Order: sequence, then structure tokens, then C-alpha cells
Amino acid sequence: MIPVEFDYYRPKDMAGVLSLLEEHGDDARVMAGGHSLIPMMKLRMAGVPHLIDLQDVGGLSDIEITGDTIKLGALVTQADIIDHVELAKTAPILREAALQIADPQVRYMGTIGGNVANGDPGNDMPGLMQCLDATFTLIGPDGERQVAARDFYEAAYMTDREDDEVLTAISFARPQGGYAYEKQKRKIGDYATAAAAVQIVKQDGKCSSVSIAMTNLSDTPIYSEDAGEALVGTSVDKAALKAAVAAMLGDIDPSEDNRGPVAFKKHVAGVILSRAIERAWSRA
Ligand SMILES: Cc1cc2nc3c(=O)[nH]c(=O)nc-3n(C[C@H](O)[C@H](O)[C@H](O)COP(=O)(O)OP(=O)(O)OC[C@H]3O[C@@H](n4cnc5c(N)ncnc54)[C@H](O)[C@@H]3O)c2cc1C
Repeated sequence: MIPVEFDYYRPKDMAGVLSLLEEHGDDARVMAGGHSLIPMMKLRMAGVPHLIDLQDVGGLSDIEITGDTIKLGALVTQADIIDHVELAKTAPILREAALQIADPQVRYMGTIGGNVANGDPGNDMPGLMQCLDATFTLIGPDGERQVAARDFYEAAYMTDREDDEVLTAISFARPQGGYAYEKQKRKIGDYATAAAAVQIVKQDGKCSSVSIAMTNLSDTPIYSEDAGEALVGTSVDKAALKAAVAAMLGDIDPSEDNRGPVAFKKHVAGVILSRAIERAWSRA
């Protein structure tokens, strides 16, 4: 379908973006890669009278690795993540997750900022950002503020971001230990039926710390603290795995849709989390 008519703007700096957002209020929306927003507009699920393209705003495409901190500009694409050698060494879970998003064409356009700001429970990066305990930087008329990824998601397509704010960067500490991003999808290029992000640290053969998050199993990404607690202090044996899966199942709340009924989704979530923990542990 063809979207309803809209005005298109391409400001050269963030001040221009913010002034357009202020001028048009609810009627304006920023666009990054456009690979979530444009399909929604074409399906007429989103009407955007004033579309503000971020592509000419400078300073939003950098990947900075300084000491123990990693900072990704909002316009960093999934392809940039995959191609960045230093990032792949420092935070390999990002590359592993990005490679499982859609297909190369979407990954060349889709940005990390758009993926996390979108609020779609099917997006993969929000769950990963729970796992990494990332912080999002937002800019608005009152200046800049930081929000923890774990506090950002409120419901499907509802986030802590105000309509007149733009997400500019994502930061997190250099991840420690073994990692895995496991995703079950119906076919190549599909969104997850269930996905799990795991970072795990091994000390003297035991799990000393772990972070676990799940994708597309509730209307927000799920950070499962209880699943992590079930593993800490164990040698990640079968009993610990089972306990972690049981704890995670207590945190998710999937709904039936064309990816399957609730019981199936819970089953897949358990299988995917077990695989992710085992693979992360084998790399720890
Ligand atoms: C065929 C297909 C398959 C896909 N499969 C997957 C998949 O498996 N996993 C997955 O995670 N994604 C998938 N996607 C989505 C893709 O990764 C998107 O590109 C991504 O979700 C959004 O990024 P974008 O830069 O395109 O954002 P846009 O489409 O430009 O924007 C998305 C939303 O975020 C807002 N927004 C964008 N940038 C900002 C910002 N900096 N600050 C504030 N708000 C902002 C926009 O206003 C809009 O509401 C798929 C897309 C397609 C077309």
C-alpha cells in the first residue's frame, strides 16, 4: 500500500530536529533507517504527517570503545556492528545478535537507535540491551538525560521516551565472560518466536555472575534476574539449567499469535534459553 501523504524534512543538525519536533508535536516522527517505520506507514498502521529524517545529523554514527565503556551512536547500523572488528572482539554478543536480524538489505539500513527506540517486542536489540545493562542517552528541549535500558520499556510501542525527545546513543560496560544470543525464528529474516541473550562469568568452575534477557515473549523485553540467580554459585549443571528455565518462565508472559500458542512459545523459550546458557558457558 501507499502511505498517506506526509511532509518530509532532512535537517542538518539536532537543533533542527528538535525545533521541528517542538513545532509539530504529536504529528511529527523521526526516522532513522526507516525499516520499521516505513512498513508501518505503508500498512497505514502509522500515520506521520511530518517525517523527520535523521540521516544528515552528524555525530550519530560513531562506535567508540574507550577503556571499559562502549558507546554506539543511534545511527550505527546493524551492518556497521557486524563489520566493526574491535567491537566484535570487545562485545561479540552484539555481532552474534545483529547477524540474526532480518537479512543483509535490512541490516544495511536498520539502526541500533531505531531498533531500541521502536518499542516493538519483536526487535532483538532491546532484549540484548537488558542483558548488557545498557544506558540510553536522550536529547529533548530540556537537554540530555540518561535512562537505563531496564527502565525504558513500558508496553508494546510504549517507552520512557517523550515525543519530543531523540535517542542519540547507547552505552554499556565491556561485557565479561562467555556470551550467546540464541534465536528461534520460523524462517530466515523473520522476527523471533523466542530469543535469549546470556553473558556469564566463570570462576573456579562455578558461575560467579550472569545476565539473562528474553525477546518477544512479553510486550516488553524481559530481564530475568531470577533466572540468573538460579545459576550463580552452581557449575551450570542440568539441575541449575532447569531451575534457570523455570525462573525465566515465571517472568515471561507470551501471547498467542501466528508464531504459535502460549504453551508452544513457553516450550521454545525454555529450549532457546538452555541452548544460550550452555553455549555461553562453553565460551566462558
Ligand atoms: C523484512 C524485515 C525483517 C526484520 N526482521 C527483524 C528482526 O528479525 N529483528 C529485529 O530486531 N528487527 C527486524 N526488523 C526491523 C529492522 O531491524 C529495523 O530496521 C529496526 O527495527 C528499526 O530501525 P530503523 O533504523 O529502521 O528505525 P526506523 O524504522 O527509522 O524507526 C523505528 C521507530 O523508532 C523511532 N526512532 C528511530 N530512530 C530514533 C531515534 N534515534 N530516536 C528516537 N526515536 C527513533 C522512529 O520514530 C520509529 O517510531 C526487520 C525489518 C524488516 C523490514
